[in-house]
Amino acid sequence: MTSSEIPVITTVSGLRQYRKSCYASNQKVGFIPTMGFLHDGHLSLIKKSLEQNDVTVVSIFVNPSQFAPTEDLDSYPRNIDRDVALLSSITNSKDKKVSCVFAPTVSEMYPSGIPLDVKLQKGAFVTVTGVSEQLEGSSRPSFFRGVATVVNKLFNVVQPDVAYFGQKDIQQSVVIKRMVADLLMGIEIVVGDIVRAESGLALSSRNAYLSSDSRDKAATIYKSLLLAQEAYVSDKEYNVEKLTDIVKKKLDTFPGFFDVDYISFNDVDTLAYLTNVDPKKGCILSLAVSVPNDVTFPKNGTTRLIDNVVFKPVQN
Ligand code: AMP
Repeated sequence: MTSSEIPVITTVSGLRQYRKSCYASNQKVGFIPTMGFLHDGHLSLIKKSLEQNDVTVVSIFVNPSQFAPTEDLDSYPRNIDRDVALLSSITNSKDKKVSCVFAPTVSEMYPSGIPLDVKLQKGAFVTVTGVSEQLEGSSRPSFFRGVATVVNKLFNVVQPDVAYFGQKDIQQSVVIKRMVADLLMGIEIVVGDIVRAESGLALSSRNAYLSSDSRDKAATIYKSLLLAQEAYVSDKEYNVEKLTDIVKKKLDTFPGFFDVDYISFNDVDTLAYLTNVDPKKGCILSLAVSVPNDVTFPKNGTTRLIDNVVFKPVQN
């Protein structure tokens, strides 16, 4: 560690000790959980925390329990040295820096072990019913159980006053808010806007899997969401079937490129599926698609991308 590098704490006991010192000096603690391979989306949340808290803790942990056995746990991009260097270079307007990185090992976070097969997982896990089954949850059945469990564990260790999540994973923020409310955790949850590349593609660590041509084509995702939003705002189109067709048609700009998992309109609070958007309430339009990592090398596999826009109420 160079002198300007921020400390990296790898044990639960080490982080608890650090947290104790913050209590002693009555410091307000902001926390940003991440899986690392940081980009400007993560950094926007971190900068918010630097503005709003005395202390900012960032965790980097690729959480096994939110990956299905068929998913990309092993190949998920990791580069802790690069992440720490990046975090060390960030300061806010008052020269404040990230206070520490919490980068625990899997055995620190799951002392009893964590097999990927859910049927073999024993012990305590957190399930948030009602908002975990639809959308991402219908394609990835134990995903939010993994997310809620690890965020609960991280909250227990870091004990933040405020925690920051991105709208990029909008269902995750709904699940976490519900967990915090129902389990009386007393932590403020702040949701930050989606940070996008100039093309409009939402930043994601998984974009690293894509060739530049695939990245360019994937920018159509956001364009398709904006077209539907425009029809909602300007043409007063509230019919979900018709709005969905607008999204599909735009994605068809590149026939066969997008393999659509879902295009969905859901209530902003309950995530209930809608057939018509209530203009007094608005909705979440979200989608998940798989795209080829490299169209010229189909054997290089595909990447699943998600994105969303929130339709604001347009009537009183
Ligand atoms: P991850 O490392 O992918 O688990 O993300 C950590 C946090 O960063 C989550 O709360 C994400 O929603 C958030 N995040 C990821 N991508 C973006 C983005 N493009 N803009 C804003 N926040 C993001």
